[in-house]
Amino acid sequence: NDTPATGVTILNGHVSGGSSSPSKSTERIQIVDEEKTFTPELGAQIDKWGLRDVGFAYNIVSVFGSQSTGKSTLLNRLFGTTFDVMDETRRQQTTKGIWMCRAKDMNVMVMDVEGTDGRERGEDQDFERKSALFSLASSEILIVNLWEHQVGLYQGANMGLLKTVFEVNLGLFGKKAKDGTSGRTLLLFVIRDHIGQTPLANLEATLTSDLNAIWEGLSKPADLKDLKLSDYFDLAFTALPHKILSADKFESEVLNLRTRFADKTSPNYLFKPAYHKRIPADGVAFYMEGIWEQVQTNKDLDLPTQQELLAQFRCDEISAVALSEFNEQAKSQKRPVEAGKVVDGLGALMKNWRTSALARYDRDASRYHKGVYGRKRADLIANLDATLSPLYLGQLKNLHKSCLAAFKKEMLDGLKGEGYSFADVIAKARGTCEGSFSTAAKEATIEETDWSWEEELQLLKEEIGFVADQCRKDETKKMINQIERNIKKQLSEPVELHLNRPSKGMWDSILLTFREVLGKAEAAYLSKATSFNCTEEENATSLASLRKRAWLALRAKIDEQTAEQAFLSKLRNHFEERFRYDEQGVPRVWKPEDDIDGAFKKAKDQTLELVPLYSRISPEDSSLEYDLPSEPSDSLLESEDFDFTATLTVFTETKAVDLTNKFRKDADAYYVEAKRSTVSSIAQ
Ligand code: GDP
Ligand code: MG
Repeated sequence: NDTPATGVTILNGHVSGGSSSPSKSTERIQIVDEEKTFTPELGAQIDKWGLRDVGFAYNIVSVFGSQSTGKSTLLNRLFGTTFDVMDETRRQQTTKGIWMCRAKDMNVMVMDVEGTDGRERGEDQDFERKSALFSLASSEILIVNLWEHQVGLYQGANMGLLKTVFEVNLGLFGKKAKDGTSGRTLLLFVIRDHIGQTPLANLEATLTSDLNAIWEGLSKPADLKDLKLSDYFDLAFTALPHKILSADKFESEVLNLRTRFADKTSPNYLFKPAYHKRIPADGVAFYMEGIWEQVQTNKDLDLPTQQELLAQFRCDEISAVALSEFNEQAKSQKRPVEAGKVVDGLGALMKNWRTSALARYDRDASRYHKGVYGRKRADLIANLDATLSPLYLGQLKNLHKSCLAAFKKEMLDGLKGEGYSFADVIAKARGTCEGSFSTAAKEATIEETDWSWEEELQLLKEEIGFVADQCRKDETKKMINQIERNIKKQLSEPVELHLNRPSKGMWDSILLTFREVLGKAEAAYLSKATSFNCTEEENATSLASLRKRAWLALRAKIDEQTAEQAFLSKLRNHFEERFRYDEQGVPRVWKPEDDIDGAFKKAKDQTLELVPLYSRISPEDSSLEYDLPSEPSDSLLESEDFDFTATLTVFTETKAVDLTNKFRKDADAYYVEAKRSTVSSIAQ
């Protein structure tokens, strides 16, 4: 026994010798150790094998069979793996547990189970059952390895093992098969040390009938009673010559078998899609750990539940990755939006972040349980939109502000200069503002959401209306002020003139002038007001205000002209003209014979008649009497207690008496002067 086959030596060199470390891609890992604990390193190892991101494009194969039947040897030959092989020279035991290794040049994960021969020694059937469960839940192909001489030994250890596999399978996939969904597994029987005397076909027939017998003998749940072995398993058979006695033939047959695993185009390709357990590669580690935990705690292994748990875990993880990348992107625009900036093309940016986050999620998560994938996708969308929504709302607010500012500017620019139509200026500015808001708001809106900007537009419209209204009021005020100035200008000279020519019809003339000027002012207002879109009510108010202002302007002019000194001077002039000048307007030179007293009295009386004339605005023609309707709603003029009738009085009676007395003193002075002049003319 000191001449081990070269192949074994090489393999021993790889594994036990440790002189050359296996490359990362075929590094093996003990996924379940002797203490039956599952490794936390499998995920990282799958990553190192370069299989993490292959989705479903990988396969899993595992092996079954009694101790020391060359299982590990076979796997290493077939897949280039590095599993421990029992050293013939020392007959040393290999490390127990479940091992996994990536096949060389194939996306295949290979599992090797190292146990004690529990059945033969009557111990640890527990581990055997657990590893069977574990392998079936994940593997597409189970290689059942047995010596040729074990075939037909119905009572042998192998058959007991198969019984376990079948029982376990019923528990796992029983219901699935009834659903018609896939849960098939290929049992590949590899008959070792085939001498050739019994043809493979005969061995195959023996094994098949043994398997069916085991199947029939199984105690099955009532609802699965009619299901056949072939409802769950495909069977395949192959034989290998003696490894040492027919070393060359052994090598070439192993190569043939390898092709059936490696070459997808081979007609005998073994990995049929129906066998795949549909666990995405990036979820295999989590899934297997979950399975092992269930198996370990002797819980019912419910694969659909396991797959859903896996899906939840993985979809959450994938979603979190997509979300964190997305948040990073979204953060970039948070500050500008919060600072009040309208971000150009924000909609395009948001759509882009959102679509790529979803694409990232879909790429990895869509391989998992459809229901879970869909639910988590909806969660993710809700998360994405919850982040985007404040940006969107902020953008709308900022748009609102900037569009309103642009509106104000365009409006005020339009109102510069002359000859504009207020209504046209507002309409144009409004159009521009609402248009640019709508365009930018549409750009920012993501269609798949329930976001809308119509409400914000409505608010904007209201504010535009408010601003325009305020502006219209200001403009109207400005216009009325302008008209008021014109009224004053137009009233000034004629009123002054009339008031300097006291006569019976003086007030008639003044009121006629007033009526004329006011009429023109009203016409001027109305011709402008049409472009201001003023309401009837506003026009009525404005006109009332105009009338009142015009009246007050007139009154102010009258007050100015009848102020004490001005009025006294009017009286003096009037008196002088009558006392110091004769009818022809020639200055009088008083002679002693002249009736100074009579002339003085006449002139004084005539002058004093003016006081009542000026005291009250009272035309001869009563149709000219002006009546100003009281207008309490006049906002343009804040004089509240405006009593029109009172304004008709120019002097109160007391004032009239006072003025009369003052005038008398003046007149007396003229009289004395006149008297003196006669004395002095006599003296000469
Ligand atoms: P395992 O326990 O089933 O994994 O078996 P091993 O691969 O560790 O091999 C056990 C022993 O069987 C080793 O000494 C191998 O050299 C030997 N062996 C491997 N393959 C064959 C074979 O095809 N025929 C024979 N007769 N011995 C083999
Ligand atoms: Mg082994």
